[in-house]
Amino acid sequence: MVPAPRIATPQPGDCAAEARPAAAFLERAEVRDVLAWMRLLVDPQDAAAVVRALARPPIELRQVHLARVIQLARRRKLDLVSGLTAATESPQVPPDARERIQRFVELHRSVAAGLDTLGPDVFIAGLIELLGVRGRPLLAPEDAAEQRASLERLRGLAVDFARRRPGASPRELAGHLAAVAPEARWRNRGFDRSPRAPDEPVVGARAAGEDGPPPARRENAKPADLSKATAEARIHPHEQPLPACGPAEDQLEVTLQLMREEVLESVARIAGRLGELRLDTELDVSHGVVRYLELLKLAALLQRPAGQPLTDALADVNARLLAATTPVQREIFQTSTLDEMLSTVLGGAGALDGADGEDAAEAAARYDRARALAIAPREESSLGPFLPRKGIGLALSASDIETYRSCPLRYKFARVLRIPTEQTLHQRFGIAVHQVLERFHSDGSETLAQMLDLLETGWRRGGFGDSEEELGLHAKARAALTRYHARLRGQDAEPVWFERSFAFRLGPHHLRGRVDRVDRLTVAAQDEYELIDYKTSRPKRATQLKDDVQLSLYALAAREAWQLESSRQAYYYVLDDVKVPVPRAEMETESVKDTVLAVGEGILAQEFEPTPSRAACSICDYRIVCPAAEKPARPPA
Ligand code: SF4
Repeated sequence: MVPAPRIATPQPGDCAAEARPAAAFLERAEVRDVLAWMRLLVDPQDAAAVVRALARPPIELRQVHLARVIQLARRRKLDLVSGLTAATESPQVPPDARERIQRFVELHRSVAAGLDTLGPDVFIAGLIELLGVRGRPLLAPEDAAEQRASLERLRGLAVDFARRRPGASPRELAGHLAAVAPEARWRNRGFDRSPRAPDEPVVGARAAGEDGPPPARRENAKPADLSKATAEARIHPHEQPLPACGPAEDQLEVTLQLMREEVLESVARIAGRLGELRLDTELDVSHGVVRYLELLKLAALLQRPAGQPLTDALADVNARLLAATTPVQREIFQTSTLDEMLSTVLGGAGALDGADGEDAAEAAARYDRARALAIAPREESSLGPFLPRKGIGLALSASDIETYRSCPLRYKFARVLRIPTEQTLHQRFGIAVHQVLERFHSDGSETLAQMLDLLETGWRRGGFGDSEEELGLHAKARAALTRYHARLRGQDAEPVWFERSFAFRLGPHHLRGRVDRVDRLTVAAQDEYELIDYKTSRPKRATQLKDDVQLSLYALAAREAWQLESSRQAYYYVLDDVKVPVPRAEMETESVKDTVLAVGEGILAQEFEPTPSRAACSICDYRIVCPAAEKPARPPA
């Protein structure tokens, strides 16, 4: 296959910029499925789009097999599309998964054939048909009608594009869709010179400082993601952001609707596997039956006799349903967390108001998590083997902890499924600046000329080009390093360590990382140490850093791993030449420990519910596979 260009960033004046419809339909699952295919066809290295295409109908690869396939592709240093062919020959991939992958490969081959020969409108109409997104079974009539309407609008977009751009190709249509898709609105907001922390590994990308040729420079760097979508290897409607908690009866209604959708999805999912030669078909079917029983339970609770307490009704309904189950179904039914979640709702008027100092928002979030857990499909295989285990605990870094705290689902994509992502220009820039500082100090260099020489070498090796943006970044780096050098010579503190690594245990977990610089200061005839982390992002105020974990963890690490009682911590924002000390009072050791342990517990329990926020989603590489912004088929009543 001829290497495909990345989807072009729309330029002012092009048709994409002209037409930016308020396109809510672009957020719908069936449309996003088509968009994901457009993306991966144009760019086979767009792993997030490939993951969505694999996870969604008509392929529906289970997440545990997705994780295995990604692992295989990474080991062989292949993009995901090429890695899939290798996966069909791997004994680690079971026959049913291989068949699904084979289906993807064949579909990909057949669709790709039209990429350079068909008109964009014909191409997209054919893609919709081939994916079978129109008329997926088991939809309520009104859902099916909405689905048809949204696909028709997508097709209309392509027809309109073809009319305005005679001779344009499906590749150009992909660029157009990238510009009008909802994620486009994040594109520019996402960049605030706040790339991923330099110590945070870019999944599937070259590590900082890695030898060998630089990554191939991408002309027309990929714009921000087209869309967001499925995490769990498929989209689960219960993962939609839900309305804030209301009265218990309303919550029951919402839960019933979500369960109904999950039952429909599970029927399709389980039915799709019935034809496969599998040893656990019976178990799959039992899971499906129990989902249906749970749906009955919710409906029965809503229709209980007037005045009957909900808890009494729950006991009654459970007894009746259990009487109709087989032993296997009974076991599944009884280990469901649905009752526990319901008891939160049923526990009286104040049940959702929070307890022990928990405010209403926290209580609502806790309830949403419990509900998502109760409704989540249970026949899925565990991702346990893919967790970053070390001994009985986990291997964790400050960046892992920040990622999980910002959004557990993002953590799952990045660190468990390990979906490859490409470094953005600004991430590469941040790494380049860090490397200059690291090499300058580790080489024992002294002069500004040496520092700027390191910049030029790093710039060439980093594959930076001569676009206006790259030249601008280069100028910023030169100016910032010049200021850094001047400040280095004029300060009282003595830098004593650079890039000093640490590793220590906290509970069952292994914490590891590196501190960019440690300075020694003499205060009142006493030695004190300052732990400094370089940032190439926009400076934050100390008040914005009050929940910061990274420096608190470094302080803990200095004590645990180096037996160094550090008394100060600071971020140094290199581009702005601003040092922001983070006061010790803000970083209670015990609370950092609690945070780490809570994060570890969540990961080990595979609690990966999305917590969407503007701050997290705007810089998230996994929007195409995230269900959190998926538009529900129909919003809950
Ligand atoms: S898009 Fe937002 S909610 Fe989804 S995984 Fe990324 S950060 Fe989480």
